[in-house]
Amino acid sequence: MQVADNFIHTIIDEDNVTGKYGGEVYTRFPPEPNGYLHIGHAKAICLNFTTAEKYGGKCNLRYDDTNPVKEDMEYVASIENDIKWLGFQWDKLLWASEYFETMYDAAVELIKKGKAFVCDLSPDEIREHRGTLKEPGRESPYRNRSVDENLRLFREMREGKYGDGEKVLRAKIDMASPNINMRDPVIYRIAHVTHHNTGDKWCIYPMYDFAHPLEDAIEGITHSLCTLEFEDHRPLYDWCLENVGWWDPQPRQIEFARLNLTGTVMSKRLLKALVDDGTVEGWDDPRMPTIAGLRRRGYTPESIRDFCERIGVAKANSMVDSDLLDHCAREDLKPKVESRNVVEDPIKVIITNYPEGKIEEMEMENNRDDENLGSRKVPFGRELYVDGADFMEEPVKKYFRLFPGNEVRFKGAYFITCNEVVKNPDGSIKELLCTYDPETRSGSGFEGRKVKGTIHWVEASTAVEVKVRNYTALMKEDDEGELVFDPDSVEEKICYGEPALKDSRPGDRYQFFRHGYYIADSKLTTDDEKVFNRIVDLKSSFKVKK
Ligand code: ATP
Ligand code: MG
Repeated sequence: MQVADNFIHTIIDEDNVTGKYGGEVYTRFPPEPNGYLHIGHAKAICLNFTTAEKYGGKCNLRYDDTNPVKEDMEYVASIENDIKWLGFQWDKLLWASEYFETMYDAAVELIKKGKAFVCDLSPDEIREHRGTLKEPGRESPYRNRSVDENLRLFREMREGKYGDGEKVLRAKIDMASPNINMRDPVIYRIAHVTHHNTGDKWCIYPMYDFAHPLEDAIEGITHSLCTLEFEDHRPLYDWCLENVGWWDPQPRQIEFARLNLTGTVMSKRLLKALVDDGTVEGWDDPRMPTIAGLRRRGYTPESIRDFCERIGVAKANSMVDSDLLDHCAREDLKPKVESRNVVEDPIKVIITNYPEGKIEEMEMENNRDDENLGSRKVPFGRELYVDGADFMEEPVKKYFRLFPGNEVRFKGAYFITCNEVVKNPDGSIKELLCTYDPETRSGSGFEGRKVKGTIHWVEASTAVEVKVRNYTALMKEDDEGELVFDPDSVEEKICYGEPALKDSRPGDRYQFFRHGYYIADSKLTTDDEKVFNRIVDLKSSFKVKK
């Protein structure tokens, strides 16, 4: 027997011992196609697919389209694309609206058994009758209609005899139940709306709590995994299946905690609002927690799956720190991607004792962790750029990089000493006049002086201009502690990179040495313009306070 690694697998193991489902495991991922999938959905996707995989079972992709809102085909395409990108393949692709006829028959079955009735109360009156957590509800005056009358009225509802809201079909359960979901819940409503799939065939539509268990049962789902807010709905899930009575064994609903992530929201509705009002670039804005956004930002499917595994499945809602996702990204990228030198906020350096016009090719390893990734040649010359953060005119304590009078190692090249700072008329730095020690060439076996700082550089005449977009969290807390969009969540900079970056193509990932992991933006990178998104920074040991 396999080892259960979460409470859901423990339940499945128990079902396999009793033989409830004959050892079968069949799950489903049931999105409503009303937006792009986000990382919370990724958790549900990973859970459903890997659970099926573990037990040699299957997982369906089922569009939950029983609600007759306009389904957008853009969303449908994005959902399929995202699931495949994460590395999963569904067994069947299904639409819940295909089951409308069976659902109708199931409702008729409940009526025939005296378990459902047509109610003429208005939505407001139904709410009034429902009672509260402390007080029982009151029964509808229509509750005791005869089976025949209910059958006729329900048929007439279907035939379009009544307007929206005029009548509903309700399950006849218990108005005194401590679980409000069990107080004669509405299971069918009238809505004269065209459905994307069934057109005008229907003007009555099943409610989620009635439709969902039927969808699971029709497909032969064994374990129906859903988020915690449905725990109180489980008695109704079971009631519907038991009272329709057509399925044995019945699928079993198991709830797990929703994923919440710091610095962002996890609701299609709220994310859609950011897209619609143009606050972000689109559903795939690199700051968005959507799978499309994470992909464009540069996260790999492996890192997202690793993240979902590490957060595990719990029975209590919690907030996961987005640092964990970043950690997973670094772990995945570190051994895989090649390194490139890019300087931000560049400062010009002139090596005054280096021959004019001379260019040397310096050999640089592509990945410190994997020599199979080889090396490349990087030009070095008299004029270079270094990072703005790697120079301080008046160094703070423990600052070991470039400052007047100090000697540092230029990574893969020479020891360099800064001698003089040349200023522009406005007081800003024009260039640094430095000297190099020819004896200290990297790889020459030089064993002389020790230096404490090593910095990277880019040769000026061959440098490639790259546009770099550094991101922070999409949302931050305002003064009231409310999460709001952070307009400063992206910082765009023009940087200089080594010439090899000229060949980068959309989707190429690199470690920009000492800066972080970056991806060439899939939409904005062209032959002529290189735009890079920062996936994650490196955990830098020392940050200069500005
Ligand atoms: P939203 O509120 O973002 O629209 P939803 O739950 O309404 O989310 P659905 O398309 O109905 O979105 O969800 C499909 C599946 O994904 C459901 O089984 C749901 O439980 C799961 N899911 C949605 N959000 C999360 C989340 N944050 N964490 C884990 N699972 C989630
Ligand atoms: Mg929903």
